[in-house]
Amino acid sequence: MDQCIFCKIVNKEIPADMIFENEKIIVFRDINPKAPVHFLVVPKKHISSLNEIEKEDKELFGEIFFVVKETAKKVGVFESGYKTVINVGKGGGQEVPHLHIHLLGGWKN
Ligand code: 5GP
Ligand code: ZN
Repeated sequence: MDQCIFCKIVNKEIPADMIFENEKIIVFRDINPKAPVHFLVVPKKHISSLNEIEKEDKELFGEIFFVVKETAKKVGVFESGYKTVINVGKGGGQEVPHLHIHLLGGWKN
């Protein structure tokens, strides 16, 4: 997807504060954080929203949630707790049309 901002981050065409990357997933800091700790866990594959996932993506999403957990450890909210949010479509407040999981925390320890 040429114009997709998260595809551009995946392809290193625009910078991001990336804290994890493997062949399928990247994690980077949200540019406009809504919590003291706010990261985005993103599949490299362009999937527009949760509505577009296919059965073949099942394994990918198992791994994504494992990466969410590992990210929570890395950024120091594993013990204190955190929220995960997936916005879907306009009505769900989704602004970037490339599926991503918000990891939010750090309000209290
Ligand atoms: P959505 O509303 O689509 O669920 O969330 C999109 C998130 O992406 C927002 O929290 C927004 O701050 C973040 N975001 C948008 N553009 C960029 C960008 O270029 N870089 C980074 N790191 N985050 C972005
Ligand atoms: Zn994309």
